[in-house]
Amino acid sequence: MLEELYQEIILDHYRRPRNRGKAVPADLAYKDSNPLCGDEIEVTATLVDGKIKDIKFDGHGCSICLASSSIMTGKLVGKTLAEALNYIENFQKMMRGDIPFGGKEMGDLKALEGVLKFPVRVKCATLAWHTAHRGITAKL
Ligand code: ZN
Repeated sequence: MLEELYQEIILDHYRRPRNRGKAVPADLAYKDSNPLCGDEIEVTATLVDGKIKDIKFDGHGCSICLASSSIMTGKLVGKTLAEALNYIENFQKMMRGDIPFGGKEMGDLKALEGVLKFPVRVKCATLAWHTAHRGITAKL
C-alpha cells in the first residue's frame, strides 16, 4: 500500500537521519523550536559561491520532525539561497494546503503529504524548513 511505503520512508529517515550534525564552517546557523511537541532543531550550512555546499541539522524531536529535517537537507544541498527559499516556500504552501503536493518527482518529500491529515503535526513537519528559511533570509 502506498501509505505504508510513505510511512516506511519517514521511519527510515528517522532511524537513519541524513546530514545530522553541524556543517563546518557554519556560514549560516539558525535554531528554532516547536513547543507544542518539544521539537528543537538547529540548521547549519556551508556556503560556497552563493550555493549551499553542505547543510546539516541537529537537535531533537519526534519522528516526523526529524524525518522532515533529514529529507529537507537532501533537497536543499546544491541550491542557491534564492532557489532554496523558493523550494522551502513551495513546501510550506503544500503543508498549508494552499497548493497541491506534486507526484513521484518529489521523491522522499512526497512521504510528508500524509502529515496533512494530522493538522497538529504540521508544525513538526515544517519546523526545520521554517528554521532554514529564517537562517537563509538572515544571510540575504
Ligand atoms: Zn513533533
